[in-house]
Amino acid sequence: MKEYNPTWDLDSLFTGGSASQEFRNYLNQIQTEIKQLEEQFITLEAKSDIFSATLTEFIKELEETLFKIREAGAFVSCLSAQDVMDEGAHTLVAECSALSASFNGVLTTFMQKLAEVPETEWQATIQHEALLDIGYVLTEYRNKAQDLLAVEQEVLINDLAVDGYHAWNQMYSTIVGNMKVEIEGEEYSIGQASNLLNSSKRATRKQVFDQLNDEWKEQASLFAQTLNHLAGFRLQMYKHRNWENVLKEPLSMNRMKQETLDAMWTAIANNKQPFVTYLNKKAEQLHLDKLSFYDVDAPITDNVKKVSYTEGANFIIEQFRSFSPKMADFAEQAFEKRWIEAEDRPGKRPGGFCTSFPDSKETRIFMTYSGTASNIATLAHELGHAYHQHIMNDIHGLNQRYAMNVAETASTFAEMIVADAAVEQAETTEEKKALLEEKVSRSVAFFMNIHARFIFELNFYKEREKGFVSPAKLNELMVEAQKEAYQDSLNEYDPYFWASKLHFHITGTPFYNFPYTFGYLFSLGIYARAKEQGEGFEDDYIALLEDTGRMSVEELAMKHLQIDLTKPDFWEGAIELCIEDVEAFLKL
Ligand SMILES: [Zn+2]
Repeated sequence: MKEYNPTWDLDSLFTGGSASQEFRNYLNQIQTEIKQLEEQFITLEAKSDIFSATLTEFIKELEETLFKIREAGAFVSCLSAQDVMDEGAHTLVAECSALSASFNGVLTTFMQKLAEVPETEWQATIQHEALLDIGYVLTEYRNKAQDLLAVEQEVLINDLAVDGYHAWNQMYSTIVGNMKVEIEGEEYSIGQASNLLNSSKRATRKQVFDQLNDEWKEQASLFAQTLNHLAGFRLQMYKHRNWENVLKEPLSMNRMKQETLDAMWTAIANNKQPFVTYLNKKAEQLHLDKLSFYDVDAPITDNVKKVSYTEGANFIIEQFRSFSPKMADFAEQAFEKRWIEAEDRPGKRPGGFCTSFPDSKETRIFMTYSGTASNIATLAHELGHAYHQHIMNDIHGLNQRYAMNVAETASTFAEMIVADAAVEQAETTEEKKALLEEKVSRSVAFFMNIHARFIFELNFYKEREKGFVSPAKLNELMVEAQKEAYQDSLNEYDPYFWASKLHFHITGTPFYNFPYTFGYLFSLGIYARAKEQGEGFEDDYIALLEDTGRMSVEELAMKHLQIDLTKPDFWEGAIELCIEDVEAFLKL
């Protein structure tokens, strides 16, 4: 059997890491291109030129520069994730952030130009042959511009955001990257220590949890700063734009309606009881009255074998193949070409991600693989993201930007294929139970953990509007949110979760939570359809993925699945599938 190397190859993109001359030249090239785009605005008169070759040419150049910006951003995020101590990478992150701000300035001006076209002419404009394909996105730009401040003000916000907003996100990563946890005399990075929380020994879990908590507590004042300031920046910006609803930005980024979000959470809130029953049952199995936060994801048995990286890779490829040979071929290629950084070693950033390089049409996956079933699921998850991007590589650049909720659809779909297959192929009842349990705990994560994050963030913003929110208050808000989301079923909660969870500190994407739950349930719907449909499914799935960047989620669901997302039926049906897992588990 062929062995796969668990470290990635970044040199094939740009040789020389953070000192790469090749990358330096690339950045210079981007800078030149942005200048050229800015100059072109002088000749681009939206009102009279909207059908003209000038505009078409402009969009083409915009697309090319957009690809390069994304490529550069992806490269530096890989560099800084693989080695948090790489100072050169930190400098490059800041540099890319500045370039991306200048580019956003260009984009903002462009949007404003589109907004100047009178409504009566707009429909005819986007029917023009050269623009037809990107009509949705251009209309979205136009609507967005109409919601924004005057262009000079927006450009100023953009420029100030580099150091005044996004920097808080970087600050957060730097502090976490430097943190060390000592457990039984050994030093661990936060990411490594967090993996130990999945230990089957309760004493270990408790020790790691307490130790981690002490660390978060010690740095809490710093994290309260990063969180409060980035949220403060956001709220000020919203206030000036007259945006009253803090969900306005995340909803429009996810191209979804408030009704859809409400329908989803209502369906979940109304169906929590089976999951509470499951948590109680799990407590019983672990000989506890009630579970604590660090027990929720605990394995119920030791007897699940650890799987080597190569074995894990082969399992994933094989399972993908039964659903979609194209997806399997893609995954195999990703392993072969070393697009994945999975090595378990210190100095890496915690967590996992997938990032795409649209200029070279490649992707890279980052994670820490230690051989657990959950690691395999994560790997499959990230490969789902990568495959989605792969499908998008051949369509127009402006149509490639899909939101997080549909991005999580492709990833969760891939994860589900692998998780289900693992349950089916389990060799013993005990193993089957453990794997089924892992599946159910995924539902618990989306319906309870993510729900808690959403409730917390909503309440946090309400508090933040009144002023700085202290660490003590943040703890209180967090525990309240967890109690509500877990329906009081736990014994001990995680007050510092607001500090330990990176997602609250991501400036590029506010409310980095509900899109996960959306993606989970939406992909369940697709998965059910896939099983029904069998072979014909692959092409339909690709068609759906291709449309993810050019329509709202409501339109996407209606077109490809004939489903109305604003109604509770779809959500309840999908939750029902998760409840079936709970029932199967309880039977065993
Ligand atoms: Zn994901």
